[in-house]
Amino acid sequence: MARKRSPSPPARTTVEARVQVLIGAPPPKDLSMGAMCYRMARPPDRVEYICPACGERTLYPKSAGWTALFSDASGIVQLIENDLPEMRRRLGLLESLHVSLDETNLCQACSPNARDLSVALQVEYADEPRLHRVSKVTLDDVRLIQEFDAGADRHCGPMGAETPLTKKVKRLRKLLGLPEKGRSGQ
Ligand SMILES: [Zn+2]
Repeated sequence: MARKRSPSPPARTTVEARVQVLIGAPPPKDLSMGAMCYRMARPPDRVEYICPACGERTLYPKSAGWTALFSDASGIVQLIENDLPEMRRRLGLLESLHVSLDETNLCQACSPNARDLSVALQVEYADEPRLHRVSKVTLDDVRLIQEFDAGADRHCGPMGAETPLTKKVKRLRKLLGLPEKGRSGQ
């Protein structure tokens, strides 16, 4: 079942070409309106983050997660308990793109002075020594990248509602570090 990722990252131009294919493809049919509305019944009052880099544990009270990313105070609980495992899982499914998470802001040992409790994405391209980095990414961002990588024609939103992936090209470009095209070029 497990798919193998290509051993080397793609070139930026290759990824840009795939975006052009996506934009030129016919719009998807039978988009789901979304049905399942999943919410944690009662988010715990605190959450423990175990750093995959150094193994240290950081305990957060629910109220620690108030950043612009989160709509309520349980945001950090949602991120660590629910979103982060799925973000890691989805990035593990990538077949072509080489994208990794930088979670160090969540670890008190790795980032003792971090004020922004969020995770970043790092995108690797062939023949480019520097990673493209995007801070403050969400599960929805990671979904977008994985859908694009898998050649999907639609994006599945947080509540299961689908939208054509072409509607998300602007965010996708930002996440992947591809320059914006002109006005028409989404
Ligand atoms: Zn750490």
